[in-house]
Amino acid sequence: MNRVLVPLQLDGTVPVLGARKHTLCGETMGTTWRVLCATSQACPVEVLRVAIQEELDLVVAQMSTWLPGSDLDRFNRAPAGTWHALPEPFAGVLEAAVWMADVSGGAFNPAAGALVNLWGFGPSPRYTDPGFKVPTEAAVQTALAHTDWRALRWDADLRQACQPGGVWLDFSAIAKGHAVDRVSRRLTDMGVRNTLVEVGGELRGQGFGLAGQPWWVDLESPPAAQGAHALLPTRVALHGLCVATSGDYRRAFTHGGAHWPHTIDPRQGRPVDHGLASVSVLHEECLWADAWSTTLTVLGQEEGMALAAEHRIAALFVQRECDGSLRETLTPAMEELTG
Ligand code: ADP
Ligand code: MG
Repeated sequence: MNRVLVPLQLDGTVPVLGARKHTLCGETMGTTWRVLCATSQACPVEVLRVAIQEELDLVVAQMSTWLPGSDLDRFNRAPAGTWHALPEPFAGVLEAAVWMADVSGGAFNPAAGALVNLWGFGPSPRYTDPGFKVPTEAAVQTALAHTDWRALRWDADLRQACQPGGVWLDFSAIAKGHAVDRVSRRLTDMGVRNTLVEVGGELRGQGFGLAGQPWWVDLESPPAAQGAHALLPTRVALHGLCVATSGDYRRAFTHGGAHWPHTIDPRQGRPVDHGLASVSVLHEECLWADAWSTTLTVLGQEEGMALAAEHRIAALFVQRECDGSLRETLTPAMEELTG
């Protein structure tokens, strides 16, 4: 039997009967995007494609660590003590990221870029480069000295931030989710209300798919070790809901028997290492699903469950046991969605 999750509220949109499904796809942020829409009207697919790409390109132009000259890149390279007017949505995402850092005691940290780069998960050097070496303790300490998000001064009225010197912002754990929200909202504004938007595995569903059915999505599940039981799929009705999954099985390197996933614990200065195979988070906003899935991955199951319960976050933790099997734990808000 599958586990089935349905939202507690329906938004009253009438399911589209006799609709056709349109699929659009493309590339962004080093990954792919895909949008499904169900509409009974003639669908101006090319107009939609341009609008979608425009929203994604805006997020990249402002918040990419990979695009030289993005607003974020210029902030990162700016001299100590200089103030910078931040455009929207950069400023709004920074505020959200700083809130997440505050409530998680720095488990989520938008100023952890120096560490991300050091461990080879930034643009250069890459952990995949021949000769890439695991950083020394001294290098970790040097990078840690530049990761204090509280050192970022932010003038909310003028929407200006001060570069304290050497702080390297990295929004990779939150910007993708925000991009999904923007695309979904832009399509709604254009009158396209029944959409499933996906960027790099993070999804937002609005309205209905075909035949009055919600958009059904199976949560990504980590592979079980050979011979161990695989997990049964969890199927979610993404109706006014988003999902983001962080997992240790994607983008990671193995060195000297240790396994380094691309999520860093900025409190320790090194990749997380506590046996969590994945964390999926459901939320009305994909920005928050994205930020929380990274946060809970860093906190680990015990601390993560406590913080998620306190904030009524719907999350599913998958823990890797010693024998290679996988164990699932649901937060109370996630349990409620199982009906
Ligand atoms: P994915 O969806 O691919 O698992 P995430 O949303 O978890 O990606 O984001 C991972 C990226 O976020 C990393 O590649 C790094 O750039 C950045 N990052 C890693 N650790 C943290 C952290 N603790 N807080 C904020 N950003 C992080
Ligand atoms: Mg994330």
